Amino acid sequence: MSVGRRVKIVATLGPATDPPDMLEALLRAGVDVVRLNFSHGTHEQHAERVQRVRATAETLGRPIAIMQDLQGPKIRTGRLRGGRTVELRRGAELCITTDPIVGTAERVSTTYQGLPGDCRPGDTLLLNDGRIRLTVLDRGEHEVRARVDDGGPLGEHKGINLPGVTVSAAALTEKDKQDLVFGIQLGVDFVALSFVRDPNDLHVTRAFIAQHSTPLPLIAKLEKPQAVERLDAILASSDAVMVARGDLGVELAPEEVPPLQKTIIRRANQRGIPVITATQMLESMVVEPTPTRAEASDVANSVWDGTDAVMLSAETAAGAFPLQAVEMMHRVVVRAEAAGERSPIDEQRRERGRMTHAHAISHAARALGEALDVSAVAAFTRTGRTAELLSQDRPRFPIYAFTPDERTYRRLALWWGVAPLFRHLTSSSEMLIEEMERILLDRQRVQNGSLIVVLGSLPFRPGVHTNFVKLHTVHAGR
Ligand code: PEP
Repeated sequence: MSVGRRVKIVATLGPATDPPDMLEALLRAGVDVVRLNFSHGTHEQHAERVQRVRATAETLGRPIAIMQDLQGPKIRTGRLRGGRTVELRRGAELCITTDPIVGTAERVSTTYQGLPGDCRPGDTLLLNDGRIRLTVLDRGEHEVRARVDDGGPLGEHKGINLPGVTVSAAALTEKDKQDLVFGIQLGVDFVALSFVRDPNDLHVTRAFIAQHSTPLPLIAKLEKPQAVERLDAILASSDAVMVARGDLGVELAPEEVPPLQKTIIRRANQRGIPVITATQMLESMVVEPTPTRAEASDVANSVWDGTDAVMLSAETAAGAFPLQAVEMMHRVVVRAEAAGERSPIDEQRRERGRMTHAHAISHAARALGEALDVSAVAAFTRTGRTAELLSQDRPRFPIYAFTPDERTYRRLALWWGVAPLFRHLTSSSEMLIEEMERILLDRQRVQNGSLIVVLGSLPFRPGVHTNFVKLHTVHAGR
């Protein structure tokens, strides 16, 4: 049960996290959510990682959520002659064809059949994470001819970005569908959708999931300018969002990313859905044991912006120092939180409209907690909603979420400030409170005389929603 830190840590799994004992070390160091990146790895590798995460979480008694990150309609270049990198020179012409050729410096293939139809002369094409810039000269039925404006080396299977172009590729590709069915079988807790452009991308994915399983929470990865234009509608259709600064920073100019990060975080906070700040947070730790001070500042600033979670990508998946990266992330977040710069969450909350009973009770719990300097708030929750509402209010005290539902227990691992506890709960209020008190005392989270705000629904059974808040003073040895 980790509440020393309120902002959660997401770590991407990969070859660097596979050695024996590494996963356990990462989880012990504070990882709350693991990310399976379906742009890489085989189904066997992902299945093996899921099995190890579940087993290790069980051993540690920690709630760990698993996020399946789908590749989405990522456009890539194809194979190259001899697998060798080619040099694209400024001023030269490059033909990108949908024919499955083996490429050269003059002609490369793409996996995306719709490319010639989507772009127009004058459009910009970016290759290899934006390092190579091309301008479209003309296009035929199967190819696009472009001029190299910024040259550089091009390897096989590199990303192609079309900033400002409305890509007609389906949000959920055939690969995504197969991966998603596989993820559902593995029992993933969240699905992250890449290159979301509008709310319909999320509706299509939900409809697909509904054919195969009960609903799964969807995380919209915000990495396209079109998504930014439809931000509010996308937030309204998502369970969480990710500021995917990697692709966003390729499609937009670097100076656009920091203000956008702040806007996305603020709007997600207003909506009351978790927001994950991702990519290159401690990038230099892929090869170095310590981060740059600018990277430490970036992490701290995202905490002060109001992010719910921070994410490590290559740092843990493929870096030389995965454990040090998680430890460093933890330290920077803890220090930033202690420094106490709070996001203006109160102002934001007031902007939110509808006030349900559960909202009112959660606000009352927070107000009681702040007026009386309580040690903790304990929420009894089946769906997790009560704990989520508390988290949205960003209270100063820890939120202990007691739940009998294993999926709720894991999903709450992503929520700011929530420490989930898995318990079979009775429906009697006295027994609920007694058990809560014993668990928090055993774990030294409270002591004799501590004041706790308790909230939940009574009787504690399906269909009864949050309906009580109570002050409770701990009496050890009762
Ligand atoms: C990103 O682009 O920032 C991102 C998180 O997506 P991916 O790592 O899948 O490219």
